[in-house]
Amino acid sequence: MRGKHIPMRTCVGCGVISPKKTLLRLVLTTENGLKFDPTGKFPGRGFYICPKVACLEKAIKNKNWVKKFNILLSPDLISALREAIEKEEGKVGQG
Ligand SMILES: [Zn+2]
Repeated sequence: MRGKHIPMRTCVGCGVISPKKTLLRLVLTTENGLKFDPTGKFPGRGFYICPKVACLEKAIKNKNWVKKFNILLSPDLISALREAIEKEEGKVGQG
């Protein structure tokens, strides 16, 4: 497969650009609520975050993207993300 394009996305926490498949996807719903999309296939405006607790904390504190897109970061979303991230970090820890 020549010239294979790897889709890259920016983390809303640290701002680093990484391959899309290494990031967790969030999708903006019609109510401006953000939903965690583990499948990466939910239709809508997508946001991406590294599977790191540090990035989640940065994303929560970083009001720029939240204001720009008029996003509501619900406690439910934050806990769902934290759970997913901890699972990812656990995998990495096991090598
Ligand atoms: Zn990040």
